[in-house]
Amino acid sequence: MKIEILEKENGSIKFVLDESNPAFANALRRIMIAEVPTLAIDEVEFFENNSALYDEMISHRLGLIPIITKLREYNFRDECTCKGKGCSSCTVTLSLSKKGPVTVYSGDLKSSDKEAVPADLNIPIVKLREGQKIKLEASAVLGRGRVHAKWQPGVISYKYFDEEKGKGDKFLFTVESNGSLKPEQIVAEAAKILGAKAKEFGKELK
Ligand SMILES: [Zn+2]
Repeated sequence: MKIEILEKENGSIKFVLDESNPAFANALRRIMIAEVPTLAIDEVEFFENNSALYDEMISHRLGLIPIITKLREYNFRDECTCKGKGCSSCTVTLSLSKKGPVTVYSGDLKSSDKEAVPADLNIPIVKLREGQKIKLEASAVLGRGRVHAKWQPGVISYKYFDEEKGKGDKFLFTVESNGSLKPEQIVAEAAKILGAKAKEFGKELK
């Protein structure tokens, strides 16, 4: 099996997977989408919100904001030494306090970790009119795309390299990151997870 990177841009890469097969290509794609963890907002505590949007709608929007994720620095909450209570090793706190008239953007979130911030600072969250206020504290935790799409690291697709033939052992992958991880990191993490799964499977067989 061979991997050759064809194109690397800010936020996306294209690579060729050669001497492989459709089952492996599909497994690699699925792992990138469903298993590679990222940080996303999972809980929001509202102290004040008299905007036009319900708490639930704002929580939903916050959940979809990609957060830059340094994977080695965070534990899954349920595997953390805090036993799931939430601590600085498994949880990033993002607070927001704004008074209208103003449009609130993702960049207004103040993070407890200066490296774990929204990947895009210009995502609109809510418009506040005169007299409207919002004050909240959000918790971002590591999660996987198979649990909820908000933890997917991006959009990943592949096709046969020789498209007219529609078969073969050579595949063209496109990985577009949403900004939480670098695209090459998505591929590397997926390969690592796939390797660990294969090892586990080998053990079970014995
Ligand atoms: Zn913890």
